[in-house]
Amino acid sequence: MQRIDGAAIAAKVLEETKKRADILIGRGIRPGLAVVLVGDDPASRAYVRSKDKKAADLGFHSVKKELPASTTQAELLAVVEELNRDASVHGILVQSPPPPHINEAEIVRAIDPRKDVDGFHPENVGKLAMDDPTGFVPCTPMGCIRLLAEAGIETSGRKAVIVGRSMIVGKPMALLLMRKGPGGDATVTVAHSRTKNLAAVTREADIVIAAIGRPHFLGTDHIREGAAVIDVGINRVDDPASPKGYRLVGDVDYDAVAERCAAITPVPGGVGPMTIAMLMSNTVTAAERL
Ligand code: NDP
Repeated sequence: MQRIDGAAIAAKVLEETKKRADILIGRGIRPGLAVVLVGDDPASRAYVRSKDKKAADLGFHSVKKELPASTTQAELLAVVEELNRDASVHGILVQSPPPPHINEAEIVRAIDPRKDVDGFHPENVGKLAMDDPTGFVPCTPMGCIRLLAEAGIETSGRKAVIVGRSMIVGKPMALLLMRKGPGGDATVTVAHSRTKNLAAVTREADIVIAAIGRPHFLGTDHIREGAAVIDVGINRVDDPASPKGYRLVGDVDYDAVAERCAAITPVPGGVGPMTIAMLMSNTVTAAERL
């Protein structure tokens, strides 16, 4: 069984990204990333902190905007518009989820698509669906594709089952795996909460991508011997033995499934670090395109 080391592969992506950033910096263009947080959700705060830190480590111009939970839609739109106009900022992301009174779809649409390094703007979603490489691809599914490539897992002609159909993970993942060419050409099935007999569907798969948001939901019943498993899930479970009182686990019962699969990503240390590395890469791409 191959344990796919997302932390090591992310370090490689970050090294490549730093080289590309250094070339730009040498030409007087410092890649700029702005991360906007509304409210004080602890998990979102932690994500924003690590994105800001990673950007600074790579020598980017890093802007962190922390806004109170009481921020109105109009105030948030004004912040996005200011960042759209700011020539020192090449990538903008608004950390999800915002407080419930914020219309997130409207905020995403307000981001200049050329600065939409999360790849959530309708223009970028459309470009992904149309195989137009001038858009931005969402970071998590792009990270999963890179993990498969680095682990030497063939996708062409193989059966991939994605569990989850969100706009952030499941849907773009399906589009990427069905693309023509390297990293694609898979026969893709997308399962979700209405799928009947999920285990029978996932057992057919050579490659399983789990993006559900339920701790240890997929077990040995769901995974056939020799399959490759990419576990996107990040779930907090109570753990009195941990100083924080919780620990992070994936959507896959790692210990049980690792016994039978050919390759699997751990949680933490699998997809998570790749998402951040891909965000940095997209930011450099945005700066290179200007
Ligand atoms: P969403 O809640 O948006 O989507 C979850 C998907 O899982 C939905 O399509 C839902 O189906 C499906 N689902 C829920 N329950 C079941 C079930 N019982 N059987 C089959 N399918 C089910 O979550 P996200 O896509 O945003 O995130 C998924 C997980 O990935 C979360 O744990 C999240 O924390 C993690 N994540 C990790 C990232 C990383 O960097 N590693 C980045 C982004 C997310 P339906 O559509 O029918 O409701």
